[in-house]
Amino acid sequence: MALIVQKYGGSSVGTLERIKHVASKVMQAKQEGHDVVVVVSAMQGETDRLIQLASALGPEPDPREYDMLVSTGEQVSMALLAIALNTKNCPARSYTGPQIGIMTDRFHTKARILDIKTDLLHRELSEGYVVVVAGFQGKNERGDTTTLGRGGSDTTAVALAAALKAHECHIYTDVDGVYTTDPRVIPEASLLSHISFEEMLEMASLGAKVLQMRSVELASKHNMPIRVLSTFSNNNMGTLVTFEEKIMQKRLVSGIAFSREEAIIAINGVPNRAGIEGYILGQISDANIEIDMIAQNATDKDTTDFTFTQHRKDYDKTLSIMQQLGNELGAFSVKTNPKVAKLSLIGIGMRSHTGVASKMFKALGDVGINIQMITTSEIKISVVINEDCLEKGIRAIHEAFELDKLSTEKQQVFLEL
Ligand code: ASP
Ligand code: MG
Repeated sequence: MALIVQKYGGSSVGTLERIKHVASKVMQAKQEGHDVVVVVSAMQGETDRLIQLASALGPEPDPREYDMLVSTGEQVSMALLAIALNTKNCPARSYTGPQIGIMTDRFHTKARILDIKTDLLHRELSEGYVVVVAGFQGKNERGDTTTLGRGGSDTTAVALAAALKAHECHIYTDVDGVYTTDPRVIPEASLLSHISFEEMLEMASLGAKVLQMRSVELASKHNMPIRVLSTFSNNNMGTLVTFEEKIMQKRLVSGIAFSREEAIIAINGVPNRAGIEGYILGQISDANIEIDMIAQNATDKDTTDFTFTQHRKDYDKTLSIMQQLGNELGAFSVKTNPKVAKLSLIGIGMRSHTGVASKMFKALGDVGINIQMITTSEIKISVVINEDCLEKGIRAIHEAFELDKLSTEKQQVFLEL
């Protein structure tokens, strides 16, 4: 007998039929002899609906009231699931995050969990109940309800699993697990049997939406393996997200992540003097604009070229700042391309293998794609390319590294529990 935390996303509890289906899955785990804590998201579309209601009253709703409002979505689905379970004679009780004692910091709309009280949970479990907990919420020191940011139910599940020292944290969703890349773009993408926390963090930060980033950070911090599974199919083991040390069969690369809406801005020929980079970036950050990649090259005329990328939404604002800066500093030119995309190859195997970057660049070159900027880290190589080449680029790299040939049967699932 083990303690299992299961989390069901919005599409898994999107209708009453689906809630009944979830109830049967919970009962199956219970019948196998496990203690089960279930975390639920709001029914599909509900959180968006609530946010729209708030914004219809004004552009910036009071954050405390916003949290009071959006946390109700999960309260509905938790009670419906508990009712469905009780109807099938499976004793269940639902609780909101504040009722359980999920304590957070004071930052409404994006609070972080600080502590979880486990007494109530242990008591209910020992009395044989399935405990259903509303995801995405907690309370601050004052007792006010807080929410954890979009996708926050994943984080609730991982935090509960860690606090209860659960055996596993199962995240049920509407896809089969984590793929080598978005299967809507590359239908041949392979389902990964496993991926390391670090790789998953890179994938999540670059837009793979399967897991909220904070949930992966938390799982890694507490050494809590997460298994991502489909609610709607029984016949696969999903993807295990776990520690690198537990992965025996290491792949060279695990996936390709990408983001479309990027822009690139270069200011060329500024005086090459100490502090210039801080000065330029200071102007951008003072305007509250985030930037992503940065590159700088000295030219032979005692000047330097400074290039960076950012999300396209900030492009117009940044361009006018840079044009002003260009005049002030006597820059040679400000050059931009507002229609670029970022493509990243991710894999812990890169740490100990050479030639990954050259293989990636060759694959892009072979299909005529011009790389505009490159950054690398220990486990990631990112390039900026024209947005209209993105799909071609993903496909070229996916094929070059044979990511379409990773069959799940050949990959081992090896976690010892
Ligand atoms: N219901 C919230 C959202 O849609 C939290 C979650 O589903 O994880 O973001
Ligand atoms: Mg989600």
